[in-house]
Parts: sequence; C-alpha cells; structure tokens
Amino acid sequence: MDYAQLKADLLAYSAEIGVDKLRIASAEPFLSLKDRLIEHQEKGYASGFEHPVLEERVDPRLSLPSARTIISIAVAYPTKMKKAPKSIPGARRGVFSRSSWGQDYHTVLNDRLKKLEAFLRERVGETEMVRMVDTGALSDRAVAERAGIGWSAKNTFTITPEFGSFVFLGNLLTSLPFPLDEPLEDLCGSCTKCIDACPTGALVGPGELNAQACLSYQTQTKGFMPDEYREKIGNYLYGWDTCQLVCPYNKGIDSHHHQEMEPDPELCKPLLEPLLSISNRKFKEQFGHMAGSWRGKKPIQRNAIIALAHYKEKSALPKLCELLASDPRPVIRGTAAWAIGKIGGSEKEEKALLKAKETETDQLVQIEIEKGLDLLKKQNGSQ
Ligand code: SF4
Repeated sequence: MDYAQLKADLLAYSAEIGVDKLRIASAEPFLSLKDRLIEHQEKGYASGFEHPVLEERVDPRLSLPSARTIISIAVAYPTKMKKAPKSIPGARRGVFSRSSWGQDYHTVLNDRLKKLEAFLRERVGETEMVRMVDTGALSDRAVAERAGIGWSAKNTFTITPEFGSFVFLGNLLTSLPFPLDEPLEDLCGSCTKCIDACPTGALVGPGELNAQACLSYQTQTKGFMPDEYREKIGNYLYGWDTCQLVCPYNKGIDSHHHQEMEPDPELCKPLLEPLLSISNRKFKEQFGHMAGSWRGKKPIQRNAIIALAHYKEKSALPKLCELLASDPRPVIRGTAAWAIGKIGGSEKEEKALLKAKETETDQLVQIEIEKGLDLLKKQNGSQ
C-alpha cells in the first residue's frame, strides 16, 4: 500500500466532505503533557469535565492498542451573524458563544470523521479506528499541535494560520502508517493580549487556564454562580469569547463554510424573558441541537436571570418575583432574589423578598434573599 498516495487521496476527499484542514500526527504517547496535567490538577485548575483517567489522556494506545497515527481534523466556524437582533430595553437578549452557534460541533465533526473512516475502510479493508471529538480520552489540542493543524496558543486555543482559533477539532486514531506532518511554529511571541483581557485572571500564564475561574466554565455550572463572576458575565448565556476575540490572529476571521454551522440569530441571541418560563420540551426543541444546551436548561435560565440583572431590566421584575415565590429549583429562586435587588425595585419587590424570607427553607436561597434585600436597600438609598 502506498500510504503517501492514500494520504493525498484522503486529503482531497476530506476537502470534498467539508473538512477545512487535515494533518497527521504519530500516535506516540504525549509524555510532556502528563506532567502538565498532573500539575494542573494539583493546583486545582481542572474543570472536572475532563476525561477521568490520566494515563488514557496521554497514551493513544490505551484507546487503540494498534494505533500508529492520528488523523487530526479542523472545521472552521463563523464568528459573525448576519442580521443580529438588537438587545433593547423591554426586549433584552442574551448570547451564546460562537462555539455554540449552529449544529453542535460534536455531531458535525463526528459526521466528518465517520466519512473519513468509511473512505479508509473502502481503500484498505477492515481496520481498527477510534473517533474522538472533545469528549474522547486524548487532548484534541495536543494532537492538533503535534500534527501541525495549528500551534497551542497562550489563550489555550489552537491557532491555525488560515482560520485563526475559530476551529473545532477532531481526531481519528488509526493503525495505518501514514507519513507524518510537522508541528507549526508558535507565533504568539511576546504578545499577551488574551492574558491581559481575561476579566477574571483565569489565564494564569501562557497556555495555562484555571478552569474554575474561567467565565466559560462558570456559565456551565449548575449551582449558584459566585457573585464575582455574576458581575462579569454580562449577557452571556453559554461560553465566553473574549480570549479569542482579542487575538490578533483572529482579526477579520469569519468562516462561513458549512451550512449546518450557520447561526440562527433568534437562537444564538435569544430574548431573555421567554427563557425564564420555557418548558423542557420547548427548550429541547429549540436549543437541543446546539452545543450550549449540553447541561440542560437550568444553567441557561440562571444565566438569563443574571443577564437581566446586568441590564437592570425593570420589566423583568414581575417574572423574577414569580420565580422567587414558586420555582421548585433553589438556584433559580435564589438567583432571582439576588437579581431583584440588583435591578432595584419598589415596595412591591421588597414585599416579595420579605415574604420569601419567611417561607424559604433552603439556606443558600436565604443567603441570596438577604443579598437581594441589602442591594434593594442600597438602590433605594436607605443605607
Ligand atoms: Fe497568542 Fe496574543 Fe493570540 Fe494570546 S492574543 S493567543 S498571546 S497571539
């Protein structure tokens, strides 16, 4: 078998099926990554969303014992919406980060990888392969770096020379001895724009992220969001874009190559208030295909309440009082209590908070009600 020719044919086929970049890395263990991952965990910087077995994260052969090469692919995604609706008083909107626009990238990349698998099977016969997109054992970025898809940048993304860091990554482990590609030069140089722009200091060093302090991670938790982050997420409902948007290599990048990744402005920048009373069924129908819905509707609703507080949207106060009084979920009741105080209200809102204080049995919600009452007093100038 001429593997150089097979690689050339695979590359040509990948372009036909909507893969923007394909390169090949060896499947040797990622030895230098291991120490970094251990240190990362020891410092408490992990998100908890990572693959749980460290050895499997650094050794491809624990996923596929016969692995010799890893096909690394990148699919570029859009960064600008055509006709983005405006967020105006009385009709405030939240926003999903760009990585959640269009069809969930796990679905899109898995589709591409399945097609590549089928292509290879047709050419070489039955052969073992393992697909990975984000949730696989290996680090997509470590593979992409080794394959030369891009360099591992200080903002912890993979920057490709062609599409900046606005790419999704996927891997296909194979036992085929393809010729390998070379890594690219790291072009971050002395730039520190992403580190300087991070509002929470989550980028603790070049390429080192404290996930616990990352606003993208914070939008995906299910409990109460710490106050310091509530002040910073603005109208983001899912994810965070600043560390990518400030990067000079992303300037002017806006790739509209794939129909399924085109953003629907009404979903990517949805009205906030209707989100507060959306049913599970409707949420699934409307947002279920987006990557940002993977944690269910509760984090999105909590973030929508925080976004309304960010806007000080007074027209949302009746709905927030309703949630405080009757939502079965403590995180929603408590965040609503805090938001009422943050927005500022009249006697009516104060009464709603005092009434909830009498009947609330959840201690964490009680703390939020106290915060709400304090904020309300401050807003009304009586303190
Ligand atoms: Fe690298 Fe600068 Fe981009 Fe950060 S902003 S990823 S330091 S080039």
